[in-house]
Amino acid sequence: MIVKFWGVRGSIPVPGLNTAVYGGNTSCIEIRNDETIFIIDAGSGIRALGEKIKSSYPKYEINLFLTHTHWDHIQGLPFFSPIFDYRYKILIHGPSMLGKLRNMVSGQMGYIYFPVKVEDLSSYIDFRELESETIKIGNTKISTLYIYHPTACLGYSFEYLGKKLVTLFDFEVDVKGEQIILGDFFPQMLRIVGKENVPSIDDIIEFAYNADLLIIDAQYTKAEYQSKKGWGHSSIPSAINFGIKTKAKKIVLFHLDPSRKDEDMMLIEHYIENYFKMKGVDFKVYVSREGMEIEV
Ligand SMILES: [Zn+2]
Ligand SMILES: [Zn+2]
Repeated sequence: MIVKFWGVRGSIPVPGLNTAVYGGNTSCIEIRNDETIFIIDAGSGIRALGEKIKSSYPKYEINLFLTHTHWDHIQGLPFFSPIFDYRYKILIHGPSMLGKLRNMVSGQMGYIYFPVKVEDLSSYIDFRELESETIKIGNTKISTLYIYHPTACLGYSFEYLGKKLVTLFDFEVDVKGEQIILGDFFPQMLRIVGKENVPSIDDIIEFAYNADLLIIDAQYTKAEYQSKKGWGHSSIPSAINFGIKTKAKKIVLFHLDPSRKDEDMMLIEHYIENYFKMKGVDFKVYVSREGMEIEV
């Protein structure tokens, strides 16, 4: 599988000189294998991916997987050009919103917000609600699990030819990479997915275990996290600790804070690299950058 990052930012797009290196678009990654391409999330990064698909991808079925329906993960969908092309069949998979996924996503295209309604788009669009389950598309096995966030949010695992890619965004674990107190922080998640469907931290570790590549929410510094507990995002050390626990072979830090400038991000990236070098540990942690490709 080849993974390409089209948007790595959390919360809001931040174009400009301060983010030219890591990129300013919100969440969107492309996963390509010999058979097909998959997309995870429709943040603003999906606009440029849509152009590429239309100009160079010869198939017309697209499987888009949404982690959840927070604005930064769906806001690019109205600008994803295949939706305006009758040749495309677009299957939008996402967390079960009690039958409301279609409304949650297409609500942003109500006439007050956008001039074209979902019903009037030229492409064929269908919505598939997922819970914690496993499906197969071609030879790719796709597993899902609810993860800790203030709404129904899915982690994804893509397995193809013996390789495993796991995405955990948006996701909050504490600084030791452990479970936070769900009852206090995430009543909305409990209400939507049901208490019995909330995984334990061990379930999430097992889900992510031994990934060849783990892409994980690392929005905050440790200091910033102190005032952001319960916002549904992890700090950089929490994300790395969680990756170590799951024995991930490579970790990519994702959902970068919109206030983080390139120079800050570079310092953090160097600090992490030196930290593991000094400890004599051969452990790969990368910071996601728009345009970056990783082979899994
Ligand atoms: Zn987000
Ligand atoms: Zn979110």
